[in-house]
Amino acid sequence: MSDLLERLRRRGWRMTAQRRVVAEVLDGEHVHLTADEVLARAAARLPEISRATVYNALGELVLLGEVREVATDGRAKRYDPNAHRSHHHLVCSDCGTIRDVHPGGDPLADLPASERFGFTVSGAELTYRGRCPDCAART
Ligand SMILES: [Zn+2]
Ligand SMILES: [Zn+2]
Repeated sequence: MSDLLERLRRRGWRMTAQRRVVAEVLDGEHVHLTADEVLARAAARLPEISRATVYNALGELVLLGEVREVATDGRAKRYDPNAHRSHHHLVCSDCGTIRDVHPGGDPLADLPASERFGFTVSGAELTYRGRCPDCAART
C-alpha cells in the first residue's frame, strides 16, 4: 500500500468524511486516477460528495507533496499517491494504463555534464511507452 491515509493522519490533515473518502480512493499501488475518476469512485462510496470538495482535496494533497501529479501525452492529469518513493512510469499507448516502475541505474547519473547546460539537476521523470498485455492480446 502507499499508506496515504497513515501519512495524512501523521501530518494532521483535517479528515472529514468526504476528505477521508478522497484519500481512501487514492490509496494503493499503481494508482493513477484522473480527477473525474477520483470523483466517480468517491461518489460511489459517498453520494453526497461534491466536485468542489474532491478537487480542493486533490489540490491540497498535491501542495502537501503527498500526491504527485502525473501528465502523460496530452491525456488528463492523473494523481499518484506514490509521492515519496522516486519512480518512473510505464504507459500503455492504447488504453493509458500506467504502472510504477523502478528501473536499475540512476537517470541523473546517466545525464552527462555536457547535456546539463550548467543546470543543477535534482530529479528526473521518465515515461516508458508501449502496449500493456491486455491491449497486445486484443490484436
Ligand atoms: Zn493497454
Ligand atoms: Zn506512479
